Amino acid sequence: MPTEKAIVVGAGIGGLVSAIQLASRGVQVRLFERAGTPGGKMREVRIGEHRLDAGPTVFTMRWIFDDIFAEAGARLDDYLQLRPAEIIARHAWSEHERLDLFADQARTVAAIGDFAGAAAARGYQSFCEQARAIYETLDETFIRSTQPSLLGLIGRCGVRGFGGLRDIKPYDSLWQSLGEHFKDQRLRQLFGRYSTYCGSSPFQAPATLMLIAHVERQGVWLVEGGMHQTAVALARLAQANGVGIEYNMDVTEILIEYGRAAGVRLANGESIRADAVIVNGDPSALSSGHFGKGATKSVARVSPKDRSLSAMTWNLVAETHGFPLLRHNIFFARDYAAEFDDIFRHARLPREGTVYICALDRDERNQTASLGAERLFCLLNAPARGDTHPFDAAEIEQCEQRVFSLLERCGLKVTRNPEHSLVTTPAMFDRLFPATGGALYGQATHGWKASFNRPASRTRIPGLYLAGGATHPGAGVPMAAMSGRLAAASLLADLAST
Ligand SMILES: Cc1cc2nc3c(=O)[nH]c(=O)nc-3n(C[C@H](O)[C@H](O)[C@H](O)COP(=O)(O)OP(=O)(O)OC[C@H]3O[C@@H](n4cnc5c(N)ncnc54)[C@H](O)[C@@H]3O)c2cc1C
Repeated sequence: MPTEKAIVVGAGIGGLVSAIQLASRGVQVRLFERAGTPGGKMREVRIGEHRLDAGPTVFTMRWIFDDIFAEAGARLDDYLQLRPAEIIARHAWSEHERLDLFADQARTVAAIGDFAGAAAARGYQSFCEQARAIYETLDETFIRSTQPSLLGLIGRCGVRGFGGLRDIKPYDSLWQSLGEHFKDQRLRQLFGRYSTYCGSSPFQAPATLMLIAHVERQGVWLVEGGMHQTAVALARLAQANGVGIEYNMDVTEILIEYGRAAGVRLANGESIRADAVIVNGDPSALSSGHFGKGATKSVARVSPKDRSLSAMTWNLVAETHGFPLLRHNIFFARDYAAEFDDIFRHARLPREGTVYICALDRDERNQTASLGAERLFCLLNAPARGDTHPFDAAEIEQCEQRVFSLLERCGLKVTRNPEHSLVTTPAMFDRLFPATGGALYGQATHGWKASFNRPASRTRIPGLYLAGGATHPGAGVPMAAMSGRLAAASLLADLAST
């Protein structure tokens, strides 16, 4: 029996990955999850007999998961069926303005040329070059680093120091920088949208976030059975490596003895001791006292004004007409600046906001087929004030009207039936993910310093670690997985040194 014991709080992606990494290196791991299933934000809901993804839908950076499975002595392909998407996403501004991005870059260049002209196609190529260069600079120096710091990054940028840092564009906003590549405002909108993948506004996020475009260009994968199966697969791998996963177990306190984490207390009053604890909940839950007074000083507090985006989401089983839906579809609002101003400056639902639809039963093979009632997931970005604002039925109804009229403007008619529709508001996200206000990606990445302000894996309390999309290196499924690896690596290094 391994002698070292660790507890992981939360079966989100970061929590599961950290548990797998520890268990496969001989640590005895118990994982407590307050929900009844794994996945956290990667959740699934039911409408009648249908199961629908209600969280992430875009799977990228599969190599991170290949590595995680391989490191635990398994093969990803034995747990999960993935298929590369040929068309990454379909974008619409009106009934007559549509643009697809393809996995094959040459096809995207041609599509952009047809859509906005030869200069735009050249702009796309220069944009891709810059996004690639940023990704390559940051991959080793920042994303994989356990304790990122500005000085460390400058050092690792090599002999060029600050000069090398300037190349990753931390000081320009993404929106500004996109203007150097694209004159067409629609393309600026399309590529600016990548900042929302980590819950930020393209007008305030650093141009560094272009790297997300590079990641997506390297491949988007469709998961057989839905994204939630990724969490199910990770939970199976964890159990196969000996992790004891206990669902419906709410951790209410981190036990601290002699200044270090010594275990957890559960809602049923039971105390469980361990050599180290990894928290996969949002770090704000620690600083705001959800894990007891002793843990409040473990991380810095995040002011509500610095929170990332929340969302209004609708899961539907409905018939659609008039628009050839793919798996991933984006319907743009006309005034992008007003959309983000509404959310971040006025903290209100956008008067007209960009809508993402994941058509869960569609891909490039059946985009024009009539499917009858099909499974949809719609998402509108929203302010993270679910802890102070109720988002009542009247507000939801008004918002829904605006969302579906924007879709109609773009040619998509959805025949809705309230009995086959499930809405999730920022207030509901706040209840699912305590102390967040419904923020889904931790702190917003606004301004050049924001990436360095994310909590790293080690907290200020020895033996207490963090994993998840609200910590370094950032939000999103692959980054949350990476944070799980970093948390496990920090914990193992500290155990070895003591
Ligand atoms: C609607 C939506 C769409 C998204 N779209 C994408 C996308 O397309 N692609 C992408 O890559 N990313 C996307 N994301 C982001 C991505 O889902 C997250 O970054 C990632 O899943 C977060 O994982 P995590 O490790 O932070 O854990 P979380 O998902 O935050 O899970 C934390 C877990 O900890 C548990 N927990 C918390 N407190 C306690 C406690 N006290 N006791 C016990 N358990 C506790 C929670 O119940 C939860 O299960 C999306 C997110 C949402 C919500």
